[in-house]
Amino acid sequence: MTFKELQISEPILKALTNKKYDKPTPIQGQAIPVALAGRDLLGIAQTGTGKTAAFAIPIIQQLCQSKSERKREIKALILTPTRELAIQIDECFTDYAKYTNLRNTVIFGGVNQRPQVDKIKQGTDILVATPGRLLDLIAQKHISLANICHFVLDEADRMLDMGFIHDIKRILPMLPKQKQTLFFSATMPNAIASLSKSMLQNPARVEVAPVSSAAETVDQHLYFVEKPQKSDLLITLLNQQKDKSVLVFSRTKHGADKLARILNKKGIGCEAIHGNKAQNARQRALTNFKSGKTRVIIATDIAARGIDIANLELVINYDLPDMAETYVHRIGRTGRAGNNGTALTFCSPEEKAMVREIQKLTGKKLNTLSVPA
Ligand code: AMP
Repeated sequence: MTFKELQISEPILKALTNKKYDKPTPIQGQAIPVALAGRDLLGIAQTGTGKTAAFAIPIIQQLCQSKSERKREIKALILTPTRELAIQIDECFTDYAKYTNLRNTVIFGGVNQRPQVDKIKQGTDILVATPGRLLDLIAQKHISLANICHFVLDEADRMLDMGFIHDIKRILPMLPKQKQTLFFSATMPNAIASLSKSMLQNPARVEVAPVSSAAETVDQHLYFVEKPQKSDLLITLLNQQKDKSVLVFSRTKHGADKLARILNKKGIGCEAIHGNKAQNARQRALTNFKSGKTRVIIATDIAARGIDIANLELVINYDLPDMAETYVHRIGRTGRAGNNGTALTFCSPEEKAMVREIQKLTGKKLNTLSVPA
């Protein structure tokens, strides 16, 4: 199947060609026709499946075809749980809507609201938001949801985990009754299933394999190494793979900073991102990483949530995570959208029990490599 066969219009096709996407991912192939027909959608899919384009493309195309296009008001709202995801989704809209007249804006908490309000005042068609900042700006009358015709609830299960369900329930009644709703969640616990029922009218249900199958598409290897030798091993491996962008996971913020210092001293350009760094610094580090300016990023699990880097080939678990599921999320950062990926895990004697748990969860034995001399 091609994007053209999905009846995607010329300006968007051109943007997709720029992105070098040659064919739709499974969720895109299923969701785009349904959403283009104006139907509500229940999408069961995780990050990494291409779900952002699956909702962004039909929204852009429908907005371009709608008569109200020329009026600069918020017509599409995308709610997502984290700042990182919000920024990434907004970047997708910027990319896919490049050859249209539509404007998109993103708002999220933790930073000064002023620049965000200024941008909204200039007029926007599409708004990507985290729930708290959206409610703040609505309360201050900077934003009205009265003209929304497309509404996306992204990562609904994570919204629940992060305690945003009350915020969502406050936002829903502010939306017009007549609209298209696209609802995405990786899992369907009862609370999410009933929320989706209350929000969707006659939805089409689209489901794709969970990213836990990342465990199948990513080449995974293990090094048994004593803790004090881990940094030498990392330096050796990074020097062997000079052309690759690498995401390194550290269990602690302090460990991430320390490792960044060691690598920089060795002339390996890298930056650390974690919860103690300001949002702007984290964003700058991510931008540098995506553009290739920094080759190595060292992240804690929380900071790495939602990091979406196309063509990330290598993930290194410098430390093992506390939970086996986290391992699957970590390695799911590579091998996305059908690309090849490799995950290397450093295991010290104290960490062996976690390797056993991971192997139990993924049903796969990790392949042990010998530490280079
Ligand atoms: P998402 O699930 O939306 O977070 O997307 C995961 C990754 O897949 C992102 O890096 C996208 O840029 C990439 N992607 C999305 N659609 C396609 C496609 N049709 N072909 C190749 N890569 C894609």
